[in-house]
Amino acid sequence: MVHPVYADLPTTIFEEMSGLARETGAINLGQGFPDEPGPLAVRQRAAAEAVDGYNQYPPMRGLAELRRAAADHYARFQALDLDWQAEVTVTSGATEALAAAFLALISPGDEVVLFQPLYDAYLPMIRRAGGVPRLARLEPPHWRITRPMLEALFTPRTRMVVLNNPVNPAAVIFSDAELALVAEYCVAHDAIAVCDEVWEQIAFDGRVFRPLMSFPGMRERTVKIGSAGKMFALTGWKVGFLCAAPPLTRALAGAHQFLTFTTPPPLQAAVAWGLDHCADWFAAMPGDLQRSRDRLAAGLTREGFSVLPAAGTYFLNVDLAASGVGEADRAFCLRAVREHGVAAIPVSAFYETDPVSHIIRLCFAKGDATLDAGVARLAAARVAAAL
Ligand code: PMP
Ligand code: GLN
Repeated sequence: MVHPVYADLPTTIFEEMSGLARETGAINLGQGFPDEPGPLAVRQRAAAEAVDGYNQYPPMRGLAELRRAAADHYARFQALDLDWQAEVTVTSGATEALAAAFLALISPGDEVVLFQPLYDAYLPMIRRAGGVPRLARLEPPHWRITRPMLEALFTPRTRMVVLNNPVNPAAVIFSDAELALVAEYCVAHDAIAVCDEVWEQIAFDGRVFRPLMSFPGMRERTVKIGSAGKMFALTGWKVGFLCAAPPLTRALAGAHQFLTFTTPPPLQAAVAWGLDHCADWFAAMPGDLQRSRDRLAAGLTREGFSVLPAAGTYFLNVDLAASGVGEADRAFCLRAVREHGVAAIPVSAFYETDPVSHIIRLCFAKGDATLDAGVARLAAARVAAAL
């Protein structure tokens, strides 16, 4: 009756933990969304577009003004030379972009190389498209990609590599050497790279994000995915970008047209306006988030937690074992949300095989008071675990 991929598929960990937080009234440092409401001018623009603008079906590949603005944005920030007409498609969030990429580019039996920890949407979608996942395992605290890892995973049947960078949940940004290594294997095996770069705008400590598409040999074989929800701290908006060379874009648009067809035009118009006018927002956002990262890290360290470095994203990881907590990540998170009023995400949820199960992920895109209260509650959960 039911497709085997969905027969026993659990509810995603983000919904599970946010559901428990809603039920218990807990502080939610689990699912990745900010406290602050996102740039006012962009939201006002969306409101004005909904009231006075065009609300019927927009063009299938997206509003021209948004596709042009996205190409300009990537030229400014990442020195990419995307042709907005032939190489940019607007989707309903990065999630739809991923689905379109997998449906359009995977044939049954194709092998797809992925790196654990991985975003939980990838595997069900890839399997439903007929792909056969080949999983690498990145290890904390550095979560590095190595040549032996790639050597063991790539085969003559490798068709695709999925690379999330900056990495959710590990909060690392891959080095140029790691990206060059992935590019080398993609070229040697004639594989397509699907690059989930939704966190591209959030890099700390002066780091510059480099898209895999900019590496030698990758321009024609990369599908670059972005998310306006992440760019503007409007995670509910679900406006995404698919960027790829024209032959790939034709296939991607073919899948997109029968997934959602289009994305709400007031949101598209507001995002286009924001990309063109919000230089101040993009300049300030990483620094603001970095301060929140540092506040949460300092608070947790004071309470005896062992905190892993975070180079980007909204997330910071805590090593429970190194913090003197013997409990597994999921048990700790369930107890923290039910008994101590704070939600977190167990990193084991991002592994299918041989999970790392002593690390929890915390979202620091929150106000100071929320972060401080979260630290106090996590500290109480830690003390209770030690009793
Ligand atoms: N990929 C990653 C790595 C993410 O973290 C997220 C959402 N947080 C998505 C994809 C989905 O993005 P969107 O909300 O634009 O669908
Ligand atoms: N990407 C968000 C996170 O990692 C969650 C998105 C979702 O709930 N699907 O927290």
